[in-house]
Amino acid sequence: MSLSRRGFIGNSAAAAALLSVPSLHAGGYVKPRVVVVGGGAGGATAARYIAKDSKSAVDVTLVEPTNTYYTCFFSNLYLGGLKEFDDIGHTYGKLAASGINIVHDWAVGVDRDKKTVSLAGGSDLAYDKLILSPGIDFVDGAVEGWDISSQNAMPHAYKAGSQSELLKSQIMAMPRGGTYAMVAPPNPYRCPPGPYERVSMVAHYLSQYNPIAKIIVADPKPEFSKMALFQEGWNSHYAGMIDWIGSEFGGANVAVDPSAMTVSIDGESVKVDVCNVIPAMKAGRIAELAGVTEGNWAPVNAADMSTKADSDVYVLGDASQQGDMPKSGFSANSQAKVCANAVRGALTGSKLFPAKFANTCWSLINANDGVKVGATYKATDEKIAKVDGFISETGESADIRKQTYLESENWYMGITSDMFG
Ligand SMILES: Cc1cc2nc3c(=O)[nH]c(=O)nc-3n(C[C@H](O)[C@H](O)[C@H](O)COP(=O)(O)OP(=O)(O)OC[C@H]3O[C@@H](n4cnc5c(N)ncnc54)[C@H](O)[C@@H]3O)c2cc1C
Repeated sequence: MSLSRRGFIGNSAAAAALLSVPSLHAGGYVKPRVVVVGGGAGGATAARYIAKDSKSAVDVTLVEPTNTYYTCFFSNLYLGGLKEFDDIGHTYGKLAASGINIVHDWAVGVDRDKKTVSLAGGSDLAYDKLILSPGIDFVDGAVEGWDISSQNAMPHAYKAGSQSELLKSQIMAMPRGGTYAMVAPPNPYRCPPGPYERVSMVAHYLSQYNPIAKIIVADPKPEFSKMALFQEGWNSHYAGMIDWIGSEFGGANVAVDPSAMTVSIDGESVKVDVCNVIPAMKAGRIAELAGVTEGNWAPVNAADMSTKADSDVYVLGDASQQGDMPKSGFSANSQAKVCANAVRGALTGSKLFPAKFANTCWSLINANDGVKVGATYKATDEKIAKVDGFISETGESADIRKQTYLESENWYMGITSDMFG
């Protein structure tokens, strides 16, 4: 159900009982206001769906500091030379044209009593419902020797944009036969197969331009997403190039020295040419400032993504602690649609649909060699719970792998138009 302004006012007495916010404010009728913080996979989708489906019955403001959002998804393909940098950049013009108020600023505080968000630029935004989808920040001190001031010498490239360009330029500048090291993150983190797709794409690049170069991965985990598929691909495409050191072999015992460009793994120091440090992660800081986190993440109710701390504040995507879904762009987009439906329902009385979620994570091991893992999920009282799943098999034909890669290209086109219009 969508309500025109006239219809809304005419029916306001009957509708008032349904709505969680008053439609009449001190100065007369005011549309319900939704503020969305973070214009990525979760936030851009939620803003777009609330604005589109409410047919302008809800005022939507999207706060996002960057003018161009570079997707982390496919950023590894850019590192591998299979995409151009511009291919992964998206702007907010279509969302603005659809009526969403785009504010390019940082949210720096949330007053949950007054229901306002303060911006770095000095202004405040009032909300009836607040949606936070700020992605991730890094846990201080997670990798000995590394902090955010070292990110130029040792990039994370786990927020796409200038970090991705920097890492790519470092890979291209590696000396012949040089060494690329990765410090992989502990669970839970953004995009479980992401570091291993990156290893594959770096190997793809090096095998063409620097074939005697080496890749070392220090990993604090004993195993990782799609491990058998990646290891099979590394053996067949990049034999001898990649040395993965898991936790049983000291991969968790790591320190780096960005000025000396050394990595110490289980006490043994190695001089490297590129060091990609991907530290442990936590919810984007604004979730913590809003007081909706417990530990590193923001616990949410699966039915609508509202936080356990405040039913008018919702957290989507990587920052949320929701249950079984991996932290992925697909998941954030899926959660955003559930949340948008619930927020619109609460503000306009529109029909509520049962919460259903889906995710697929595709990864590219070599050109046209795509693999995937995915699942469907439902909301239970306790969490977002997995219903059933699927995964590519080892030994699949080149044809199946190519089809899987082409699926991922279609998905990328689909999700970016779903986010940005
Ligand atoms: C290398 C790599 C590969 C990946 N590949 C895939 C893939 O193939 N498929 C897939 O589904 N997922 C993939 N992902 C994961 C995916 O990128 C994330 O899970 C997804 O972007 C999460 O969406 P989000 O909305 O939570 O955060 P984001 O998309 O990161 O959006 C957060 C936004 O919030 C903004 N923000 C942060 N703080 C503030 C603030 N205080 N005020 C205002 N704005 C703020 C940021 O600028 C950012 O634009 C990959 C990730 C990486 C790193």
